[in-house]
Amino acid sequence: MNYVIIGSGVAGIAAIEAIRSIYPSPFGRGQGEGDVEITLIGDDPHGFYSRPGLAYYLTGELHDKALFPRTADDLRKLNFHYVKGRVTRILRDQHTLELAGQAPLSYDRLLIAVGAQALPLEVPGANLEGVLKLDHMQDAKRILKHARRGKSAVVVGGGITALELVEGFVSRGMKVHYLLRGDRYWSNVLDEQESRIVEQRLREEGVTLHHHAEAIEVTGRNGRVSGIRLLNGQQLKCDLVAYAIGIRPRVDLAKQAGLAIDRGILVNEYLQTNDPDIFAAGDVAQAYDPMTGRSILDSLWGPARQQGHTAGLNMAGRKTAYIKSPPFNVTRLAGLTTTIIGTVGRGRDEDLVGIARGDSETWRQLPDSMVAQTGFEVNRLRLLVGEKTLLGAIVMGDQKLSFPLEKIISGNMDISPIRERLLAPKARIGDIVAEFWAGANIRH
Ligand SMILES: Cc1cc2nc3c(=O)[nH]c(=O)nc-3n(C[C@H](O)[C@H](O)[C@H](O)COP(=O)(O)OP(=O)(O)OC[C@H]3O[C@@H](n4cnc5c(N)ncnc54)[C@H](O)[C@@H]3O)c2cc1C
Repeated sequence: MNYVIIGSGVAGIAAIEAIRSIYPSPFGRGQGEGDVEITLIGDDPHGFYSRPGLAYYLTGELHDKALFPRTADDLRKLNFHYVKGRVTRILRDQHTLELAGQAPLSYDRLLIAVGAQALPLEVPGANLEGVLKLDHMQDAKRILKHARRGKSAVVVGGGITALELVEGFVSRGMKVHYLLRGDRYWSNVLDEQESRIVEQRLREEGVTLHHHAEAIEVTGRNGRVSGIRLLNGQQLKCDLVAYAIGIRPRVDLAKQAGLAIDRGILVNEYLQTNDPDIFAAGDVAQAYDPMTGRSILDSLWGPARQQGHTAGLNMAGRKTAYIKSPPFNVTRLAGLTTTIIGTVGRGRDEDLVGIARGDSETWRQLPDSMVAQTGFEVNRLRLLVGEKTLLGAIVMGDQKLSFPLEKIISGNMDISPIRERLLAPKARIGDIVAEFWAGANIRH
């Protein structure tokens, strides 16, 4: 059996690990299974690394060598052929892939794990030297090459990646202007107070925030960025412009091959497309969730790994459904550790055209819930309380409760005994959750 995987991101590598968990050697275990060959095709010259880690590379907290979750030896043990290259076409009827400048490759089972890419900034001047985005390692290296103490940058975009760009420039001693389309930071996920906490911390770091600000042109001199023009007529001088205005799953290959797509490649709970020999996983996949009956884009590292793993098992013949767990993300917003679990948002965000990096559609669903919140300034806790369970939580600052909350939410624990207390005015919800968690541990 000849397994081929397109994309050397976390979904692709997790799929290989899953296939090798069933067929540890290149030769099939059982009788008649024949040889098992795995080929990975990837066009990123840096191979497999942590994309979320790029933010820490930008601030100088992590060396680029620390971004590789697998050693060369780990990868060698997985025993696969690695083809550095780009797939340009899938010929389904011939079970063959065309590659740019290389010989075609055939497959028996194929996984498309090509991820998503940053939406382009579509304004005049966007192709000037010094207009930057953060999709992959090469982008991060380009940013570091341009970032210089004393220079100034304008950052455009409303989610986590935009903030990572802001923090990266601040840490390099640059003057930063941050443009937000709406009236506050990340309004589809954070509530008003949380947005204000982040904004206040940015101001303290010397960042200038511009609300209701829309870039309409990047201006230049000698082919390089010299400033930016806003819709309200304002002009800002700057040396760099960086943007993170959403992402788009790379569906082109699937579309050309006639696979079913919506915003991502549509797959069933086995991560299988409408072609039984082709699977899709990770940021490019829009996976069916039997619990909600909806197909969702998750766009997060954890789900990408889990989907890749499940796809790998299914490609190797183990029928395993992908059970979506509530999205969970630990991030840093203006230096403040923030954990987001399950559903926390308010739906649409005018700052973002598409889904953001390090974001999940589930966060944005309008929850059928009531809100309990507590905390001041930097330590803050918000819970989305459903009828019998907690639907989501945001923990900012002190992280003592993020582990219990993740367990309570992902385990759908019945919170009826504390529900009323949680929703009482001025409830000390942190104490109530801690007490409930301690009790639950004693009961088990
Ligand atoms: C700056 C940044 C910050 C992030 N922060 C967070 C975070 O805080 N938390 C979180 O959970 N997630 C975060 N993410 C998102 C997370 O990294 C992704 O969800 C995850 O990497 C998706 O994995 P994937 O394997 O689906 O795709 P990718 O990691 O995108 O890998 C796909 C690979 O396929 C390659 N490829 C594409 N087309 C082809 C082709 N035609 N031929 C060959 N190869 C091809 C691409 O070059 C790429 O290497 C962040 C991402 C970025 C960029």
